[in-house]
Amino acid sequence: MRIRIIGAGAAGLTAAYELVTRAQASGRDLALQIVEKNLGPGQGCSFHAGGMIAPWCEAESTEPIVASLGAEALEFWTRAAPLAERRGSLVVAPERDRAELVQFSRRTSHFTTLDRAGLAALEPDLAGNFSGALYFEEEAHLDPRAALAFLAKTLAAEPNVIFDYGVDATTLPDDCDWTLDCRGYAAKPDLAGLRGVKGEMMVLRSADIKLARPVRMLHPRHPVYVVPRADGTFMVGATMIENEERARVTARSLVELVNSAFAIHPAFGEAEVVETGSDLRPSFWDNLPRIRREGRKLYLNGLYRHGFLLSPALARRAAQIVLEDAHFPEVMDEDRGQWRDARRARA
Ligand SMILES: Cc1cc2nc3c(=O)[nH]c(=O)nc-3n(C[C@H](O)[C@H](O)[C@H](O)COP(=O)(O)OP(=O)(O)OC[C@H]3O[C@@H](n4cnc5c(N)ncnc54)[C@H](O)[C@@H]3O)c2cc1C
Repeated sequence: MRIRIIGAGAAGLTAAYELVTRAQASGRDLALQIVEKNLGPGQGCSFHAGGMIAPWCEAESTEPIVASLGAEALEFWTRAAPLAERRGSLVVAPERDRAELVQFSRRTSHFTTLDRAGLAALEPDLAGNFSGALYFEEEAHLDPRAALAFLAKTLAAEPNVIFDYGVDATTLPDDCDWTLDCRGYAAKPDLAGLRGVKGEMMVLRSADIKLARPVRMLHPRHPVYVVPRADGTFMVGATMIENEERARVTARSLVELVNSAFAIHPAFGEAEVVETGSDLRPSFWDNLPRIRREGRKLYLNGLYRHGFLLSPALARRAAQIVLEDAHFPEVMDEDRGQWRDARRARA
């Protein structure tokens, strides 16, 4: 069976990995071509992600399906690209915004409440600034660029997988048994209702800050998170703007990100700015992911701000549709459409 995957971002590479491992396990023959218009993997929206694998924190502002699909990612990112660190995540709020923390705790689960001493035991650097935190012990984080580079390298070592970089797949003939379109926002012309939600981020470096796990700081207007990476660097993210202007990082957004990072740890004020960036999160109207099937073509899209959290669940289902003719109403576009209509009718 000849399969083409378009796009080597989180959606495309997780789908490729699931297809190859499931075909191997069931003794199926498969020739997989991964076509990517950039010159390497993970250079689209996935490049700018924070890499938080935080299904229970995300439940605060999303539908329950995000937590249930997202829980699958914890297993995937410790097996397929074993780069995820399972050290949990912390949620804090400045003293004046303590009510935000209480509200967050009412909408989430799988956490313990830490007092100042408990916080100091986990993250000594934070205890001076915050009197407590919510600790989501089972959550994880990864470096998205390292994780996708690892997946691409693992796949490239398979004899039945080829990568074609620097190729625009829309110029190729439709000559495969199956095509998995994982183009993210670039699929907008084909996917009615797909929109981009702008996200800006920055990477800071400081030798004076020690954090072992992601920290989210609640704020009524500028919630922010900091994800520790290698070499004393920290990803600080991210704005959420209903605006499809991809490239521009605005001064206002940078000021907001820096101010919020500064509120988490004053030493961020002296940190070196290593990088700033911006991209469009591919999103449907309900910010939930979809698989759309058109004959022997699948679109995997709508990962919104959950690319690394939800792509493993989408990938597993896509591989089972291709290899086993399975059907998954919880993510299929036509079924989600019916679910939406039923919900609207009830309302
Ligand atoms: C600032 C920011 C922070 C984020 N933080 C997180 C986070 O902490 N956790 C999380 O899970 N998610 C996070 N996200 C969301 C996540 O980045 C996206 O959901 C995810 O990257 C979407 O993945 P994708 O594979 O669908 O798209 P992409 O990563 O954009 O991949 C699509 C690929 O298709 C290629 N392509 C497009 N057109 C063609 C063509 N014609 N031919 C060949 N190739 C083509 C592109 O070059 C690209 O490589 C964040 C996003 C942003 C912007």
